[in-house]
This record gives sequence, C-alpha cells and structure tokens, in this order.
Amino acid sequence: MDWIDTHCHLDAPEFDTDRAAVIARAAAAGVTRLVLPAVEVANFDAVRDLARTQRFGYALGIHPLFVDNAAEADLERLRDALAALRDDSRLVAVGEIGLDHFVPGLDRGRQARFYAAQLALAREFDLPVILHVRRSADDLLKHLRRAPVAGGIAHAFNGSEQQALAFVGLGFKLGFGGALTFERALQIRRLAQTLPADAIVLETDAPDIPPQWLYRSAEKRAQGEPPARNEPAELPRIAAVLAGLRGWTLAETAAITSANAEAALPRLAGAFGR
Ligand SMILES: [Zn+2]
Repeated sequence: MDWIDTHCHLDAPEFDTDRAAVIARAAAAGVTRLVLPAVEVANFDAVRDLARTQRFGYALGIHPLFVDNAAEADLERLRDALAALRDDSRLVAVGEIGLDHFVPGLDRGRQARFYAAQLALAREFDLPVILHVRRSADDLLKHLRRAPVAGGIAHAFNGSEQQALAFVGLGFKLGFGGALTFERALQIRRLAQTLPADAIVLETDAPDIPPQWLYRSAEKRAQGEPPARNEPAELPRIAAVLAGLRGWTLAETAAITSANAEAALPRLAGAFGR
C-alpha cells in the first residue's frame, strides 16, 4: 500500500539528528510521497532541496505565525521564487498560508494582507494552496469567495461541518491527522466519518500533532519527559483510525485518500515519487 503524507515539516530542526532514519521508516511503512510546506522565506531553499533529493513534493509560502517577523519584501521574494520554479514539477502548491486567530497577540490585519497577497500569487501561478486554519475558517472562506483559487487543502481541519462543506464547495479537500486519534476529539471524528469520501486527505503535520499513542501529557512533560515528536511513518496507523470510522478497509483508505490528494494537488499525480 502506498500512502501520501500531504503535510510534513521534514526540514524542521526536530529531525536534524536522524532525518535519514525518519525518511527510511516512512518508506518502510509505505509512506512514499510527502508534501513539505515552507513556513518562511528562510526555509524555501531547505524544503526545495529536501524535496529534490528525496523525490518529494513541496510548497512555498509564508505561514501566518511567521507573518509578524516577515518583511514586506518577502512577498516579492516569494513571487520571484514561484516564477523561477514555475516549471518544477515538485512544486505542488503555495503554502503554508492562512490565518491563525488562536495564538494571542498576532497582528490580524497584517496576517490578512499577507494571506490575500499569497492567494493572488497562487492565482497568478495557477497553483492550489495549503491552508492553515485555526479559529479562522470563516475569514479564510471570505477571502476565497472574493478571490477564488485552484482549490487545495485546508490542513489539520478543525472547524464546523458547515465550514467544512463550504471549503469543499470551493474545491478544497480537508486534511486529517493525529487529532483524529483522540477519542475526545468528537467533532473532528464526526467530520471524518460523515464528510463526502472525496473530501478527505491524510497528513501527519510532523513533527507536530502527535497521535494519541505518542502523546505526552503536560504532567509528564513537567516531570521532564520531552514532548512527543510525530513522524511520517505514523501515517498508516492514523489511517487505520480513519478506516475504522468510515468502515473502509486499509487498502480502500489508501486508494481513496491518495486519489483525493492527487486531485487537490495535481502535480502529485505527475512524474515524481512513483
Ligand atoms: Zn504545518
């Protein structure tokens, strides 16, 4: 079985000591295609180089949590990079972009400006987008209705059913990962169970959002245990939880979610990684 991890920060410092082993474990688990989203201009080269060496896909964009530290000129640098790489079949999307209304103290006006500017770049270069959604689904949707793009993925989706269906109506897939594995995540599990089958893609968001079996409580962390690190090799086990919720076999889950990922990010279906 072949799996696609549609969202993995493989360039993160958490993987600096054993990145090759992490990639080998993912391959052994059948997770053969990964999408590496950038978060700031400073990591554009790292995700591109990693994707090229490892035969993965990548996305370029400025993450909402990095907007406050970004320079205005970074939007121009993103544009230059998208122009220079427009024929690179591994460049599958503009991302990770979006809005974060959960983390306190961020400049919302600046986030909205960077988000709108990056949507315009996605349109200009005819690329889908990978969206960061945190308490921000309605605002993200408002921009997309005003200025549609070629679809993409609302990653680590955590909104309501109505919001989920609004994204689907605009041509988006919704990304599900480690959060799905917590029994108390009732809303996310219900969405994973009831959304149209063609709306769902899988992701780890590694090193973040560890599944329930890796999670370390705040109490354990206070006792000195390090926070758990998620990795792409966990994807099939997360997929098994989705399979259980949907009543799908694991093979069906792999086939359906891979086809959905290729529909959301068409360049994934192209020459690389197969
Ligand atoms: Zn991310």
